[in-house]
Amino acid sequence: MSTVAIAPAPERPMPVPTRDSQPYWDGLREGKLMLQHCASCGKVRHYPRPVCPHCLSMESEFKAAPLTGKLHTWTVCHHPFNFFFKAEAPYIVALVDMDAGVRINAPLRGITEDALKIGLPLWLQFEPVSKEVTLPLFVAG
Ligand SMILES: [Zn+2]
Repeated sequence: MSTVAIAPAPERPMPVPTRDSQPYWDGLREGKLMLQHCASCGKVRHYPRPVCPHCLSMESEFKAAPLTGKLHTWTVCHHPFNFFFKAEAPYIVALVDMDAGVRINAPLRGITEDALKIGLPLWLQFEPVSKEVTLPLFVAG
């Protein structure tokens, strides 16, 4: 007699907010893109981190940013890095030059690869995946 091992369903990998990134995640949950600005030199940065890469200041503040940007590049994932995403493959991940001055990567939905071109206007939208966590995604503008 043999037994068959059944693997548990893969769990979605989730972000773990830090002291530095909590305002970003709170913003997504509230339907806003909150970006970190240096309180000393004023430059915007993303991902959230404690030290300004331009002037090394540790003082910063978060401000709401426009949700618009343009496609910088993309990749089509046929073999997801995590088994959880296998059911969604193939899917597009976009790297977007936000009008606010930073680059953000997130899934791009509602468009096929043959319609993509560098510079395509995109909108950041919000996908709640749990009570605490909302993730960004892009759609064509
Ligand atoms: Zn700075």
